[in-house]
Amino acid sequence: MSKPLQIIIVVLCLGAAGYLLINFMTKPSATSNEGTPDYLHFKCGNAECGLGYSWKRGTDTGGRDIDTCPDCGTIEASRAAKCQECGLYQAMSGHGAYEKICPQCGADLPPIREQK
Ligand SMILES: [Zn+2]
Ligand SMILES: [Zn+2]
Repeated sequence: MSKPLQIIIVVLCLGAAGYLLINFMTKPSATSNEGTPDYLHFKCGNAECGLGYSWKRGTDTGGRDIDTCPDCGTIEASRAAKCQECGLYQAMSGHGAYEKICPQCGADLPPIREQK
């Protein structure tokens, strides 16, 4: 095998490896955008409803309060953490405490960021 050909093969291999590495590191997860601070997560306080929903900051509310459940209309839905693994909404309990581990799948829950 001639020297230049070997060099070309090595360069191609490194290029492919680098491409795969960058692709792997920057690969977005399925719920990537919902994990950003741009999203606020809520869980409806009505036990019969319990809807979890997300709200993107800056979205026009159409005059509706963002902590009003869009399903049953209960006012004062709780701030919640959304599990990035299984999608469970874990409501913040009283005193601002909240679970750090998803009770459903055991994944780490993202911290709830302050609203203002
Ligand atoms: Zn509701
Ligand atoms: Zn989970």
